[in-house]
Amino acid sequence: MEIIKKQPFHLLRYFLIVSIVSIPVASYVLGKVFRENAIGNLVSLGEDKNINIARVVANHVWPKYSKQFELLGNMQAEQMRKQLFMSVLQKKVEQYIKQTSVIKLKIYNPEGKTLFSTASDQIGIIKKQSKPLDDAIKGQTVTKLAFRDKIYAMDELLTQRNILSTYLPISDTNSVIGVIEVYSDVTTLYEKITSEHNAIVTGVIFVLLGLYAIIFIFVYRADKTIRLQCVEKQHDEEKIKYIAYHDSLTGLANRDLYRYKVEGAIEQAKRNESLAAILFIDLDRFKQINDSLGHNVGDELLKQVASRLLECVRTSDTVARQGGDEFTILLEGVKHVDEIVQVCKRINASIRQTYKIDGNELFSSASIGVTVYPFDDLKVDHLLKDADTAMYEAKESGRDKYIFFSTGMKRANVDQIILEQKLRKALEENEYIINYQPIIDLRTGDMTGVEALLRWDSQDYGVVSPVKFIPLLEETGVMAIVGEWVMKAVCEKAKQWQDEGYDPVTVAINISIVQFRKMNFVKTVEEALVQSELEPQYLKLELTESLLMDQSDTCVKKLLAVRALGVSIEADDFGTGYSSLSYLKRLPIDILKIDRSFITDVHKSSDSAAIVTAIMAMAYSLKLDVIAEGVEQIEELRFLSALNCNLIQGYLFSKPLSESDLKNVMSDPDYFRNKLLEINENNTAIAS
Ligand code: C2E
Ligand code: MG
Ligand code: MG
Repeated sequence: MEIIKKQPFHLLRYFLIVSIVSIPVASYVLGKVFRENAIGNLVSLGEDKNINIARVVANHVWPKYSKQFELLGNMQAEQMRKQLFMSVLQKKVEQYIKQTSVIKLKIYNPEGKTLFSTASDQIGIIKKQSKPLDDAIKGQTVTKLAFRDKIYAMDELLTQRNILSTYLPISDTNSVIGVIEVYSDVTTLYEKITSEHNAIVTGVIFVLLGLYAIIFIFVYRADKTIRLQCVEKQHDEEKIKYIAYHDSLTGLANRDLYRYKVEGAIEQAKRNESLAAILFIDLDRFKQINDSLGHNVGDELLKQVASRLLECVRTSDTVARQGGDEFTILLEGVKHVDEIVQVCKRINASIRQTYKIDGNELFSSASIGVTVYPFDDLKVDHLLKDADTAMYEAKESGRDKYIFFSTGMKRANVDQIILEQKLRKALEENEYIINYQPIIDLRTGDMTGVEALLRWDSQDYGVVSPVKFIPLLEETGVMAIVGEWVMKAVCEKAKQWQDEGYDPVTVAINISIVQFRKMNFVKTVEEALVQSELEPQYLKLELTESLLMDQSDTCVKKLLAVRALGVSIEADDFGTGYSSLSYLKRLPIDILKIDRSFITDVHKSSDSAAIVTAIMAMAYSLKLDVIAEGVEQIEELRFLSALNCNLIQGYLFSKPLSESDLKNVMSDPDYFRNKLLEINENNTAIAS
């Protein structure tokens, strides 16, 4: 999952290297080709001229002086120069070469002896080791271009000359009888060629430099674009990879990256013989906050939770968001389970702190399920699934806590799709059942009412908790139908019990936000009352505090309409959602139900005690009744009683009961009075 950075193509660098090499090479090659070509032309033109003159001499002079030339072969130089015909010959030759570029002409015999030269002091010299002369003696016409520092021509000394000399063999029928050498001065032409060559080379260099400058601009730009594109591409790739492996809202790792990290951590743990812990975290009551205060508030809450989670772990650990309000944490290189416990405690404490969002103060808590490699399982899938199971266990056993997975836990991770189908069918199959949990008035020991609590008695899974299936009902849109069924069924039961002769009992029904939002909500309440003929004062509706915080006109109107039917309204799970309580004045609420999380250990926790005390004081001033829910311990009851919180719901008095168990309880008017006496006795025993 790491990004390998690719180097961009170094266009500019390669261009510079290539051009630094190619410009001089191109200039050199072009110049050389031109020069060789020009000199080749110069030589061949000059050779033609020289040959022509040599031929003229050969045709006019040789036949006439051939005899003398033969004799000259045996003479000394001095004697040769004194020969009378020499001055005639000199004049003749001078005539031939006059007004030409020829500066010197020599005649050799086949032995290389100079028989005649326009520079008379060279007459009689035998030219040795001259390849061109030797070749000419063998019958070849040879031309040679050479630079001479000085050269004698017509008895005159010339300096710094470029001389083109041509050797023309003169033959009789079968052998070379002499060689004529013609020297022409090509200095001017040669210099012209040189200066043209220099001009061309300079020109070529300039043209190439000009072109280079233009190309350089393009290449420079192209190079810049390539680099930019490369950087952009890398950014894009990084971005794509980031998006692919991160949660867009919180920036945390996502499910895929998390899994990948877990796999790596397990490998590492195997090698180091260390532990790896998987924490599955679910926010408690997030859905209510999201539904009532809107997605923006929900999102902000998730972001704040994410950053708190990050603060609770080391940087080497991984915090991921699985989706919704579910987070996972991977703790690597753990040496002892105590370290995991410490992290879980830190998380619970941190998530419990107040959240300030849009001027509201919100509360949340986290239920954490933990699995540990290698204790719980060796396979990634199992570890993840079991942590989820443990998380549900944490939720069921009161939320805001961590629970380590144990094999004894039933696997709650039923396949979601099948579960949804079954939830839909459950109504037809009469699998939904209602339990009733009594609410006791401490002042009298009477049962003042019951809360109707839905269960799903599934053929496949046994009795399923509403904590698990109500969110699913809400998501799949079945909640409204089931909710309506609960309302009708409970109203009918309440009326039926009265008809059967039991004392009238008030029933409280939990209302889902999905149900409440339906246009016909008030009508369904009315219909349930009409059809069952239950008097409205025996019906209470429990709406979660977070649902009530939506103070829109429609919400308020609906609540007023329900109130107008004669039905009371309870704010359920009170204290968990909102701390600015001014909204209570605006809303038609009759009863507050303090959430179990504040009741549990209220006598030990100074925070909970402060919250419960504040709620009681406020309820007193607003003239609202208060029910404490989830009372399990005598110490909690004592604390509540001291605050004048007299309506109690909780396991201390009774768990939710089946209809028949409830009827048993109802048929004994002293049942709870006795229980209260029993509790009070225990209470005094504890107190003393
Ligand atoms: P709730 O309305 O806050 O209900 C109180 C929950 O606390 C019930 O859980 C009850 O069994 C539990 N409880 C009461 N006293 C104690 C105690 O002393 N100790 C412990 N540990 N738990 C206690 P239950 O029945 O699992 O229901 C959970 C939630 O499901 C309810 O919370 C309510 O929000 C929802 N619910 C239940 N029935 C319905 C229904 O018919 N419609 C809707 N919309 N929601 C329902
Ligand atoms: Mg309730
Ligand atoms: Mg509640």
